[in-house]
Amino acid sequence: MTTDSTALLDRYAHAVLGVFGRPALVLDRGEGCWVWDVDGKRYLDLLGGIAVNALGHNHPAVVSAVSKQAGEALHVSNFFTTRAQIELAERLLRLAQAPEGSAVFFTNSGTESIEAAIKLARRTGRPGLVALEGSFHGRSTGALALTHKAAYRQPFAPLLPGVAFVPPGDIDALRAAVDESTGAVVLEPIQGEAGVRPLDTAYLEAAREITRAAGALLVVDEIQTGIGRTGRWFDHQRADIVPDAMTLAKGLGGGVPIGALVTFGPENSGRLSPGQHGTTFGGNPLAAATALAVLETIETDGLLATAEAVGEHFAGRVLALGHPLVDHVRGSGLLRAIALTAPVSAIVADSARDAGFIVNPVAPDAIRIAPPLNLTIAEIDLFVDALPGLLDAAKESA
Ligand code: PLP
Repeated sequence: MTTDSTALLDRYAHAVLGVFGRPALVLDRGEGCWVWDVDGKRYLDLLGGIAVNALGHNHPAVVSAVSKQAGEALHVSNFFTTRAQIELAERLLRLAQAPEGSAVFFTNSGTESIEAAIKLARRTGRPGLVALEGSFHGRSTGALALTHKAAYRQPFAPLLPGVAFVPPGDIDALRAAVDESTGAVVLEPIQGEAGVRPLDTAYLEAAREITRAAGALLVVDEIQTGIGRTGRWFDHQRADIVPDAMTLAKGLGGGVPIGALVTFGPENSGRLSPGQHGTTFGGNPLAAATALAVLETIETDGLLATAEAVGEHFAGRVLALGHPLVDHVRGSGLLRAIALTAPVSAIVADSARDAGFIVNPVAPDAIRIAPPLNLTIAEIDLFVDALPGLLDAAKESA
């Protein structure tokens, strides 16, 4: 790291609230799946802003949507609407295969989408919520109440009461936890922050059956797994279920902040009436036009198939390395974790960065990738080719 980066990081430490710790790099610009730091060093971005840069950096469709919209109207308030907002809502409903009477509420982030879902659940008249151990749903206080990790929760107790946590994958435990006081069960089809841990399709279907029988809502948090990330538009679509609500953010805007709550069917869409919820920026023309360009490009460029093929290729090649530090590869499409046999992910991620690859040590024994959906096989092969050396070095220093 040169003086340029070091001086900037010192200024960061003096000016930016320290909740993220010291950043690893000061980034300057990106192009496709590559980013450059202020010292001119190039990295293959296999994290994509944590599943946000669905089309990579500087994609012409995103650049053109942002600049065109900036030249028209950036913001109009929710007293008014725009063509882009309407078209985006319609498109999301089509991709979600949502029944007639479904609707979209736009937000600016994942945590806000979860807050909207909590308010939706409250409108059932039932105060209870059920979430899964290992869950991550966001940092605002409602979403935090649904987030399992003690280190995130405890400093802010007491949180929203009435949240029960059950072990993921345990159908009997879920059945026992859901009763007539449960407003909603909230779950991620793949628990991203827990280390990319997929729920079985049978569990998703059981969760649907259990919530329906109890009169509770099923909310699927697709903030990390949605928008084509797993090779499907939304990961719950691998199961034969229609949820009551779905939360989105991250990849939807390709880097421009936007999130959404999708309510399925007229009963759910009718739960929040005029005045009961709102946001200043949610669904503004800049975010909506950009999100439309992202969805359009994913469709026309066939990026669901690319995500699936490149993700399968990656998993197959990593396993075929037969390295003693690799236990297995989890996840779908381009949301993957290499599960390690020893807690050395931070060492691997640091040396990967030195070698020009950005990956994420999501758990002590797991390395996550969530790259742009247009990553090529040639690009991912660069990382897989470097992996044995990185793992060998980590083994020695462990
Ligand atoms: N839900 C899931 C599944 C997430 O992965 C995240 C962020 O990582 C969130 C919610 C919170 O989203 P945001 O950071 O945009 O508030």
